[in-house]
Amino acid sequence: MNKVNSLYIHIPFCNKICDYCDFTKLQYFRNFAISYLEALKDELKSYPIKDLKTIYVGGGTPTALEDDLFEELLEIIDTYTDGVQEYTFEANPESLSLSKIKMLKAHSVNRVSLGVQTTNDKILKTVNRDHSFSEVQEAIKNLREAGIDNINVDLILGLPHTSEKILKKDLKNILSLDVKHISCYGLTVNPHTVLFTKGFKEPEGDILRKYYDIVEETLTKNGFVHYEVSNWAEPGYQSEHNLTYWRNEQYYGCGLGASGYIKDIRYKNTINLSQYLTRVFVSEKEEVSERDKLTYQIMLNLRTIEGLNMSFVKNKRNVVGELIKEKLLILKDDILIPTYEGMMVLDQIILKLM
Ligand code: SF4
Repeated sequence: MNKVNSLYIHIPFCNKICDYCDFTKLQYFRNFAISYLEALKDELKSYPIKDLKTIYVGGGTPTALEDDLFEELLEIIDTYTDGVQEYTFEANPESLSLSKIKMLKAHSVNRVSLGVQTTNDKILKTVNRDHSFSEVQEAIKNLREAGIDNINVDLILGLPHTSEKILKKDLKNILSLDVKHISCYGLTVNPHTVLFTKGFKEPEGDILRKYYDIVEETLTKNGFVHYEVSNWAEPGYQSEHNLTYWRNEQYYGCGLGASGYIKDIRYKNTINLSQYLTRVFVSEKEEVSERDKLTYQIMLNLRTIEGLNMSFVKNKRNVVGELIKEKLLILKDDILIPTYEGMMVLDQIILKLM
């Protein structure tokens, strides 16, 4: 069995619920958060976690915790941070206070991922986000002053009332912040979200494609490398934690709704807080057969420019040849690498290679 080098921890609490949100999240209540941290500590102890390379704390909104509980969370994680190379916390700009930034720094967090979504304050209000662009600027300034400059910002493409002009302005604003990493995801409108009940729709495929083209052109011109379908980074600043997933490597997942992959088992934790608090953590388990492993390998490896070793698709040489001819893949030193065009139609490529 390969070593497990990565740990994901989910903190499900948010101070305000965004209209488009489809993540595992709950309204923040102090008492729930206190009990949650106790259960999380027990769950972490139930795994033989050691010698990690990456830790990623996501949500929800980890920074929704009040300062004393935020400190407690960091202390719980301290047990596992020895030798960790990349330690990321997700944060929302409005709750990333100076005191929390100091705590992050004191506990060796060296990467922060900020939920920005758009820099247009009117659109942020429309989708019930609780921050403004000036708070993003302030948070990034404070992070940098504290010595944390490995910063990602998340953007959503296709939010209500957006346009190509607004996206171009978003990118200009984001580039002015001099961050190392930018993630851009197309808006999804799931049936149980407020956005759906308000009648908003996802952007049409060709509009979304146009948005991606704008992002690709602007960011690559500014020195970013498009290293995964939805992720761009300055050279050397790819998310090592997320690369664990895309390399099809194992990882621990702890917290409400978290997923993990250990010893050929992919598991998913319960999304029911009461159940989680009774220490029934895992709700689904999938034993990964050799065939499934190959499927995951193809699906995940082809998302990034690290690519897929030809040995995994050696019986598909004709299909591979066609995909190369169509300029959707390139072959370099026996590794198949998706082109930008390829990344945009990845589902079709994967179907052909299965
Ligand atoms: S902050 Fe994130 S997790 Fe919380 S409601 Fe908004 S989108 Fe969902």
